[in-house]
Amino acid sequence: MSPYRVLIVEDHPFQHEYLVHVFNEAGGFSVDTVWDGQTALQSLAGGHYDLLLSDLLMPGMDGVQLIQQLATLDKPPVLALMSVASRRMLEGAGLAARNLGLTVAGLISKPVQATAVQRLRDCLDQIGGAPRGAGGQPILEDMDAVAAALHNGQIQAWFQPKKSLCDGRIVGAEALARWLHPGAGLLMPGAFLGLVQRAGLEETLLWLTLRHTLAAQQHWRRKGYSIPVSINLPTHLLDQHDLADRLHAQVVEQGADPQQVIFELMETSTTHQLSDYYAGACRLRMKGFGLAQDDFGQGFSSYFNLVSTPFSELKLDRSLVHGCADNEHLATALQSIVELCRKFGLAVVAEGVETHAELMLLRRIGCEQVQGFLISPAVAVDRFSTLLIEDGPAPALS
Ligand code: C2E
Ligand code: CA
Ligand code: CA
Repeated sequence: MSPYRVLIVEDHPFQHEYLVHVFNEAGGFSVDTVWDGQTALQSLAGGHYDLLLSDLLMPGMDGVQLIQQLATLDKPPVLALMSVASRRMLEGAGLAARNLGLTVAGLISKPVQATAVQRLRDCLDQIGGAPRGAGGQPILEDMDAVAAALHNGQIQAWFQPKKSLCDGRIVGAEALARWLHPGAGLLMPGAFLGLVQRAGLEETLLWLTLRHTLAAQQHWRRKGYSIPVSINLPTHLLDQHDLADRLHAQVVEQGADPQQVIFELMETSTTHQLSDYYAGACRLRMKGFGLAQDDFGQGFSSYFNLVSTPFSELKLDRSLVHGCADNEHLATALQSIVELCRKFGLAVVAEGVETHAELMLLRRIGCEQVQGFLISPAVAVDRFSTLLIEDGPAPALS
């Protein structure tokens, strides 16, 4: 395999020599160095680079300005940033880059260690192997096909377990949509939710998910397990004043318990009138459903919203959880949110837990439940039954 071409942007002469040495020792790289951002852009115009590693604090064009220029290129290289500046400065610059659509392979505190360079190589290996964008899945455009798939069983609810950090058992699940597409294979929501929205079919998806959830709960209950399930509810659907009533009627008609269904309010949309948001949230709770703030910590979820909406649960967004074991600022933020939730009597679920170190940290700060690939991805209903059985005999039904 040919080596990765790396361009290093660094204004300090000693650092040039040092970095070339570290990359050569790691192996698998061919390295060029330049002194400033302007020269870096000229080099990128003259040839292909797989990775651009840039300092942040530089005279003339600084690292953030260089990021802004990189984002205007047709095919920008993968980016890594290094700095003596604070970790938060590195994180902030990384977010500037990601939000401009750049791929960020690493945020490295100086001095750059051999292990950080090896991680960059691993990351480039992964990027090379996996196609980019929405998990490499096709973005579908056929509205008739999605409408049909919502009716013919191709779109289904799968279930991702939530585990208790108190006793290690599966204590719930989140229903997540999956499209078993005859041509394209298993499609994740990123590939088709936009189409569902444009086709005005979000409510159809909500009813489908509720139906599949109630059927799954009944199936597990026959095996002795009582599993609360969370369902994603696009907030703008609360525009309809009778939504809580209709959801409640459906659950009761199926002989199910509203307390076993939690609606996760998503922030991708909101109601036309703010009053409909509060009214809908209150009425869902009054009907006995659980109510979760989804993706807390990302986007626009605010403390005001948290204190003024009758939530029963808070989902900590993956962006706060990912890397929390190595980032004391994230860990401190998580700890304070968990304490706040305890005071408000809210259950806290951490999403996107991928490593044991993250799990240990979450347990230490008193987070109650976790969801993430470390435990299991979302699986079909039968596979979930197997996970329950592997988890141990069912506790006495409540
Ligand atoms: P979400 O509600 O935040 O759901 C969690 C997402 O994180 C899921 O992605 C899940 O597969 C993924 N995930 C879980 N554990 C991990 C982990 O450890 N690492 C990483 N990197 N990811 C993890 P998914 O299934 O692709 O769904 C994406 C989003 O699509 C959901 O985000 C939700 O906003 C939306 N969505 C999914 N199903 C439905 C649905 O039935 N209705 C509606 N309206 N939206 C849905
Ligand atoms: Ca969710
Ligand atoms: Ca979420």
